[in-house]
Amino acid sequence: MTSTRTESSMQDCIFCKIGRGDIPSRKIYEDDDVLAFHDINPKAPVHFLIIPKKHIASLAEAQPEDEALLGKMLTLVRKLALQEGCVNGFRTVINTGRDGGQEVAHLHIHVLGGPQPWK
Ligand code: IMP
Repeated sequence: MTSTRTESSMQDCIFCKIGRGDIPSRKIYEDDDVLAFHDINPKAPVHFLIIPKKHIASLAEAQPEDEALLGKMLTLVRKLALQEGCVNGFRTVINTGRDGGQEVAHLHIHVLGGPQPWK
Protein backbone atom coordinates (compact mmCIF):
# COMPACT_ATOMS: atom_id res chain seq x y z
CA MET A 1 0.00 0.00 0.00
CA THR A 2 1.35 3.46 -0.87
CA SER A 3 1.81 6.01 1.91
CA THR A 4 -0.88 8.18 0.29
CA ARG A 5 -3.39 5.34 0.50
CA THR A 6 -2.33 4.60 4.08
CA GLU A 7 -2.79 8.25 5.07
CA SER A 8 -6.19 8.26 3.38
CA SER A 9 -7.22 5.12 5.27
CA MET A 10 -6.13 6.65 8.56
CA GLN A 11 -8.15 9.79 7.91
CA ASP A 12 -11.31 7.79 7.18
CA CYS A 13 -10.85 4.99 9.72
CA ILE A 14 -13.32 5.13 12.60
CA PHE A 15 -10.92 3.41 15.02
CA CYS A 16 -8.11 5.83 14.07
CA LYS A 17 -10.56 8.63 14.90
CA ILE A 18 -11.30 6.99 18.25
CA GLY A 19 -7.56 6.52 18.82
CA ARG A 20 -6.93 10.22 18.17
CA GLY A 21 -9.85 11.22 20.40
CA ASP A 22 -11.80 12.73 17.47
CA ILE A 23 -14.70 10.37 18.24
CA PRO A 24 -15.56 9.67 21.88
CA SER A 25 -15.35 6.17 23.33
CA ARG A 26 -15.80 4.53 26.71
CA LYS A 27 -12.08 3.99 27.32
CA ILE A 28 -10.84 1.40 29.75
CA TYR A 29 -7.11 1.68 28.97
CA GLU A 30 -4.79 3.91 26.96
CA ASP A 31 -1.07 4.31 26.45
CA ASP A 32 1.08 5.65 23.60
CA ASP A 33 0.57 2.55 21.46
CA VAL A 34 -2.74 0.98 22.40
CA LEU A 35 -6.32 1.89 23.29
CA ALA A 36 -9.05 -0.29 24.80
CA PHE A 37 -12.70 0.75 24.89
CA HIS A 38 -16.15 -0.76 25.31
CA ASP A 39 -17.82 -2.08 22.16
CA ILE A 40 -20.73 0.16 21.15
CA ASN A 41 -22.90 -2.92 20.44
CA PRO A 42 -21.91 -5.41 23.13
CA LYS A 43 -22.47 -9.11 22.50
CA ALA A 44 -21.76 -10.06 26.11
CA PRO A 45 -22.03 -8.52 29.59
CA VAL A 46 -18.40 -7.48 29.14
CA HIS A 47 -17.34 -6.67 25.58
CA PHE A 48 -14.42 -4.42 24.85
CA LEU A 49 -11.97 -3.92 22.00
CA ILE A 50 -8.19 -3.51 22.08
CA ILE A 51 -6.74 -1.61 19.13
CA PRO A 52 -3.29 -0.39 18.13
CA LYS A 53 -3.17 3.39 17.66
CA LYS A 54 -1.11 2.71 14.54
CA HIS A 55 -3.36 1.96 11.57
CA ILE A 56 -3.03 -1.73 10.78
CA ALA A 57 -5.99 -2.74 8.62
CA SER A 58 -6.20 -6.32 9.87
CA LEU A 59 -4.17 -9.15 11.32
CA ALA A 60 -3.39 -10.10 7.72
CA GLU A 61 -1.69 -6.71 7.23
CA ALA A 62 0.52 -6.94 10.34
CA GLN A 63 4.24 -6.89 9.61
CA PRO A 64 7.24 -8.37 11.41
CA GLU A 65 7.98 -4.94 12.91
CA ASP A 66 4.56 -5.07 14.61
CA GLU A 67 5.56 -8.10 16.70
CA ALA A 68 6.14 -6.17 19.93
CA LEU A 69 2.91 -4.20 19.48
CA LEU A 70 0.87 -7.39 18.91
CA GLY A 71 2.50 -8.98 21.96
CA LYS A 72 1.61 -5.94 24.03
CA MET A 73 -2.03 -6.13 22.90
CA LEU A 74 -2.28 -9.84 23.73
CA THR A 75 -0.65 -9.34 27.11
CA LEU A 76 -3.17 -6.61 27.90
CA VAL A 77 -6.11 -8.98 27.30
CA ARG A 78 -5.75 -10.80 30.62
CA LYS A 79 -5.03 -7.66 32.62
CA LEU A 80 -8.02 -5.74 31.21
CA ALA A 81 -10.36 -8.75 31.33
CA LEU A 82 -9.67 -9.08 35.05
CA GLN A 83 -10.01 -5.32 35.50
CA GLU A 84 -13.48 -5.55 33.88
CA GLY A 85 -14.52 -8.40 36.15
CA CYS A 86 -13.97 -11.45 33.94
CA VAL A 87 -12.74 -13.59 36.83
CA ASN A 88 -14.01 -16.88 35.37
CA GLY A 89 -12.51 -16.54 31.91
CA PHE A 90 -13.14 -14.68 28.70
CA ARG A 91 -13.35 -15.12 24.93
CA THR A 92 -11.00 -13.41 22.49
CA VAL A 93 -11.85 -12.93 18.81
CA ILE A 94 -9.92 -11.32 15.96
CA ASN A 95 -12.06 -11.15 12.82
CA THR A 96 -9.86 -10.82 9.76
CA GLY A 97 -10.93 -9.76 6.28
CA ARG A 98 -14.25 -10.08 4.49
CA ASP A 99 -14.53 -13.83 4.85
CA GLY A 100 -13.47 -13.50 8.49
CA GLY A 101 -16.43 -11.25 9.25
CA GLN A 102 -14.34 -8.13 9.85
CA GLU A 103 -16.48 -4.98 9.58
CA VAL A 104 -14.05 -2.31 10.78
CA ALA A 105 -10.80 -2.30 8.78
CA HIS A 106 -8.52 -1.52 11.71
CA LEU A 107 -7.04 -4.43 13.66
CA HIS A 108 -8.91 -5.08 16.91
CA ILE A 109 -9.14 -7.80 19.51
CA HIS A 110 -12.63 -8.45 20.86
CA VAL A 111 -12.67 -9.50 24.51
CA LEU A 112 -16.00 -10.93 25.71
CA GLY A 113 -16.89 -12.16 29.14
CA GLY A 114 -19.31 -12.30 31.99
CA PRO A 115 -22.00 -14.86 32.80
CA GLN A 116 -22.66 -17.41 30.05
CA PRO A 117 -26.05 -16.48 28.46
CA TRP A 118 -24.17 -14.78 25.63
CA LYS A 119 -22.55 -18.05 24.52
P1 IMP B 1 -15.61 -6.56 13.55
O1 IMP B 1 -16.84 -7.19 12.95
O2 IMP B 1 -14.67 -7.56 14.15
O3 IMP B 1 -14.93 -5.61 12.59
O4 IMP B 1 -16.14 -5.73 14.79
C1 IMP B 1 -16.26 -4.35 14.82
C2 IMP B 1 -16.82 -4.00 16.17
O5 IMP B 1 -16.67 -2.61 16.34
C3 IMP B 1 -18.31 -4.32 16.32
O6 IMP B 1 -18.49 -5.19 17.45
C4 IMP B 1 -18.95 -2.95 16.55
O7 IMP B 1 -20.02 -2.99 17.47
C5 IMP B 1 -17.78 -2.15 17.06
N1 IMP B 1 -17.85 -0.70 16.83
C6 IMP B 1 -18.10 -0.07 15.66
N2 IMP B 1 -18.07 1.26 15.83
C7 IMP B 1 -17.79 1.47 17.13
C8 IMP B 1 -17.61 2.67 17.91
O8 IMP B 1 -17.73 3.80 17.44
N3 IMP B 1 -17.32 2.49 19.22
C9 IMP B 1 -17.20 1.24 19.79
N4 IMP B 1 -17.35 0.12 19.08
C10 IMP B 1 -17.64 0.23 17.77
